[in-house]
Amino acid sequence: MKVQELCPHLTTLTEVTIENGYVCEECMKQNRQWVHLRTCQTCGITLCCDDSPQAHMSLHIKKSHHAVIASAEPGERWLWCYTDNSFSEY
Ligand SMILES: [Zn+2]
Ligand SMILES: [Zn+2]
Ligand SMILES: [Zn+2]
Repeated sequence: MKVQELCPHLTTLTEVTIENGYVCEECMKQNRQWVHLRTCQTCGITLCCDDSPQAHMSLHIKKSHHAVIASAEPGERWLWCYTDNSFSEY
């Protein structure tokens, strides 16, 4: 998996944002558990991944029409575009 077709969202992304602490804000509000955390590269919000029971990032992407997320897990350095199903490591 060396050669990857990058979508325009990923090729134009210059800086990867991971902030807001190490929690899913929505899960915290509802006192729920999550599996992994992802950060939206459009607005910078950190929410839980698709493997989490609530899948808050998926909901956020659908509602907001944002596209690109990064893994917020320590040691993971990759981006995913929901619009184009495009993956990139950085
Ligand atoms: Zn894209
Ligand atoms: Zn969540
Ligand atoms: Zn967003």
